[in-house]
Amino acid sequence: MNEKKSSPYSLCSLCGRSCGIDRSGGERGFCGMGPELRIAWAGIHRGEEPVICGAGGSGAVFFSGCTLQCFFCQNRQISRDGMGREVSIPDFADICLSLRDRGAENINLVTGGHFLPSIARGIALARRRGLGLPVVWNSSGYDGPGAVEALADFVDVFVPDLKTLDGALASALFGAPDYPGTVRNALTRMAAARPLSFSGDSLRSGLIVRHLVLPGLMDNTREVLAWFSENLKDRALISVMFQYTPMEGIENAAAGLPGSWSRRVSRAEYHETLRLLDLFHIQEGFIQEPPGLESLTPDFSRAASFPGNLAEPVWFHRGTAAS
Ligand code: SF4
Repeated sequence: MNEKKSSPYSLCSLCGRSCGIDRSGGERGFCGMGPELRIAWAGIHRGEEPVICGAGGSGAVFFSGCTLQCFFCQNRQISRDGMGREVSIPDFADICLSLRDRGAENINLVTGGHFLPSIARGIALARRRGLGLPVVWNSSGYDGPGAVEALADFVDVFVPDLKTLDGALASALFGAPDYPGTVRNALTRMAAARPLSFSGDSLRSGLIVRHLVLPGLMDNTREVLAWFSENLKDRALISVMFQYTPMEGIENAAAGLPGSWSRRVSRAEYHETLRLLDLFHIQEGFIQEPPGLESLTPDFSRAASFPGNLAEPVWFHRGTAAS
């Protein structure tokens, strides 16, 4: 009698939610995704940190779904609404090879934690077909138990978010009061797994911790930077971002929550962040330009999803040839 092969998506605990449901049997957990890889966009991205973009740009692959689903997400079309298309593992490997052929400096996997087993197989297949580029793991930091160890088999550079270390705020913003403990654990393991190593101006191995400053929540930023200084400062780079952009209807979605969601980060908050970086002696890393009027919010219903010359599509969910 043949034994039924177990799926890595049965009893899913790929992220901190640990839903324990059988995605391969048709159930859907908090991330809303099934067992098949689902991708919205892939292309050459020039808006990442300079040590990731290099001269050729980063080969970004944006996956559909998300395990956090922040109500203010700028990628909500794909993270919350599931925009994208299912692709096979060989097709994913082909996308990676296409990015290499277009001159990408690396393969940059954006918010793929809920597809980790399939991504690992796809990267292994791409490697067998000749992919030699470093792999970047760009995530919310809400990685489940054992995820960092599994990722260390094929990831060279970790770029997780550190959104908050306040359990009450994490509960209010994305319904995950355990986020602080989970992200602290994940970041500490990532730093241990990948010491900083450069090749010229490019990061070949290491950890970049991203923090998005949110309007009206400077105490949150202070707590995050203080923790980073105490625990990771000499083993990782910080990347502080100010690109929060209020979306339509945010006032209703944010009713009763702490923060000032209907505006951008103010000049005063920008300068306060610089002061905190000085105060905590954080010198190595990246600081985004002060918030301006331009929006960096992508539109994944178009192949040219990103504003300006920020990115060039190589694969798009509404057609195999990007246009
Ligand atoms: S990836 Fe996370 S949110 Fe999605 S089903 Fe698994 S445990 Fe739940």
